[in-house]
Formats: sequence, C-alpha cells, structure tokens
Amino acid sequence: MSVFSHLEFDNHEKVVFVEDEQSGLKAIIAVHNTNLGPSLGGCRMWPYESDEEALTDVLRLSRGMTYKSAIAGLPLGGGKCVIIGDHRKDKTPELLRALGRAIEGLSGAYITAEDSGTSVADMVTIGECTQYASGVVKGSEHGGDPSPSTAYGVFIGLKAAVKHKLRRTDLRGLKVAVQGVGNVGFHLCKYLQAEGVELTVTDIFPANVERVVTELGAKFVAHEDIYTVDVDVFAPCAMGGVINEETLSQLKAKVIAGAANNQLARSEISQLILSNDILYAPDYVINAGGIIDIAYQRNGGGTDDLKAHIESIGTILTSIFERADKTGYSTEIVANQIAQERFKN
Ligand code: NAD
Repeated sequence: MSVFSHLEFDNHEKVVFVEDEQSGLKAIIAVHNTNLGPSLGGCRMWPYESDEEALTDVLRLSRGMTYKSAIAGLPLGGGKCVIIGDHRKDKTPELLRALGRAIEGLSGAYITAEDSGTSVADMVTIGECTQYASGVVKGSEHGGDPSPSTAYGVFIGLKAAVKHKLRRTDLRGLKVAVQGVGNVGFHLCKYLQAEGVELTVTDIFPANVERVVTELGAKFVAHEDIYTVDVDVFAPCAMGGVINEETLSQLKAKVIAGAANNQLARSEISQLILSNDILYAPDYVINAGGIIDIAYQRNGGGTDDLKAHIESIGTILTSIFERADKTGYSTEIVANQIAQERFKN
C-alpha cells in the first residue's frame, strides 16, 4: 500500500500501522501536524472494506483535525486513529488495551478520544495502558460527552451567521430547519427554542423526533423534505456530504450553519454556495465546541474559561465572513487560509 503518493497524503508527520495478533487489533494512527501541540483526534472503529479505505479515512480525518484545532485556537495538532473492525462484534477490552499500548508508544505525539464506534467507556479501557486517552476525566460537566459543548458552539456560530447575513440579533420568530436531532441536534434545538426560534426538524430515528416535537414543540417533516422548507437557516446535524448541487438548488435558507462534519459533497461546492448568495459557516469551525471541551477536560481549565473559549467560535466566524466578503473567496477557502496561517508558522 503506497502512502507517500496517496491522494490524501499531505506531509503527514507519522502514519503508524498497528497489528496485534492476540487481540485481533488492526489499526492505523495518523499524525498530520504537531506544530501547535500534540495531535488530538478521535478513534473511529469501522468495518472498512479494505486497508486502503481505512488509510484514506485516517489521512483525511487527521488533516481535518489540524485545521479544526488551529482555527479553534487550541494548542493542539491534528491526528486520528482508525480501527478496522465492527464495533458491535470485534471490540474487546484486550483489543482496546493493545491500542492503548501502541498509543503510549508514540510518547504523546497522538492523543486519542471517542469517535464513531468508540465510547467514553472505551477511552477508560484504552486509558489503562496509556496516559494519552482523553474524554475520561472524572468531574467533567457531561461525563466526557462533548456533544452539549458542540451544540453550544453551533448555537453561537449560528447566531453570528444570522447577524452577518440577515442583520438580526434577536432570534425570535427566526425559522430554522434542523436535519438530525441526535446528541448535538437536540441540544441545539433547546438553545434555539429558548430564544423563540420556530423549529422544523427531521430525523430517521422516530424516538429522537418524538423527543424534540413533544418537549420543544418542533414541527416535523419527512427527511426528504427538509431541504425545501421555507426557513431562514438550514442546520445539518446528521451526516456529511449533504450539500451538493441538487440540495443547494432546493434550499430556501440564506444561511447554512450546523454541526455535521464534512457537509460539502465536494470542496468546490463552497464556491457554488457563494454564488447562490447563501452564507455557509464552515463545518469544522462551527462544530469545534466538542474538541475545545475535550482539550479543557485534558488540560484543565474552569467552566467559565471553557464557555468563553467556545463563544470565541462566533468571533472567528465573523472574521471569516468579513474576510470572505472583502476578498470574494468562499468562507471555506478563507477558513482554510486562516488555519494554515496558524499551523504552518
Ligand atoms: P447522533 O448520531 O447522536 O445524531 C445524528 C442524528 O441524525 C441521529 O438522530 C440520526 O437518526 C439522524 N440521521 C441520520 N441519518 C439521517 C438522515 N438521512 N436524515 C435525517 N436524520 C438522520 O450524532 P451527533 O453526535 O449528534 O453528531 C451529529 C453530527 O455532528 C455528525 O455529523 C457528527 O460527526 C458531527 N459532530 C458531532 C460532534 C459531537 O460532539 N458529537 C462534534 C463535531 C461534529
């Protein structure tokens, strides 16, 4: 398997292939860049169809973490770990401990955290063999779960986007469509509802719909109708790749501001969003509340400082919007430029 010539290879500092015969562990750890500090990023467990697919994912995701931490003003670099396997069948304490030993062997260049297919409890098990597992600090406000902080950051970022594009500071009567009301989406809806926002939501999981409709009075639409509803803001909080030519042509919203990772189907879509006169809050900027929370869990720091740091997402987004207006570049391109200015020294 070629690494240096891989399309997603971007001067990664380290790519480590881990195999432990006894536990069946097969994992790849990628450290993209540590100029600003040790790399931190989640550990994903997924039944990848091939090693190549796992490599592509870990290279891309670790790079993304460098940009996310840099733009969030954290003293951290970007890294990621993928375990090749089905978390429902293959995950054992032995496998997680073997991974912990491999992470410890990197002497702090990579700090792991939960991601798809791993949990806070798994971080505790990994943490038996390494000091470089985060999200396990006792006493954190939400027991290690970063979702409420992610939602708070998205709420702050959404307000900054609405202020910039729609010139509104009062959200009362604003119409927001939320796609996906799971951990982050539900908390976001709570913040929005408290400010008098009219919520339209969708989800493919009925219990999550029920919760937001009964508790918050949200209006439900079928998942295929969420793009066409007449709203001011579209908040993607489910899966990635949802903004493409087709969905963009359906959107009535003038602002896209949500938690989902990798919202754009392709990076060129950011230019199309701009020409459609829609303001896009780049996903990795607006959803950085979770990584900020994890960094504070790890490095210590008071609740007030954490809150203030998450609120800085609004300030950084505003500076991105202003620079985009001035230069004519898309907000995605401007965000990437600012992140690079920070981590490339
Ligand atoms: P979650 O799994 O708790 O919630 C996602 C929700 O989306 C679920 O209720 C699911 O049923 C729903 N969904 C899935 N496919 C759908 C579809 N086609 N249409 C409508 N709904 C659909 O996940 P989460 O932790 O709330 O994360 C949401 C998004 O935010 C993800 O993209 C995640 O990568 C991203 N994100 C999360 C965090 C965090 O702290 N949890 C941090 C950064 C980014």
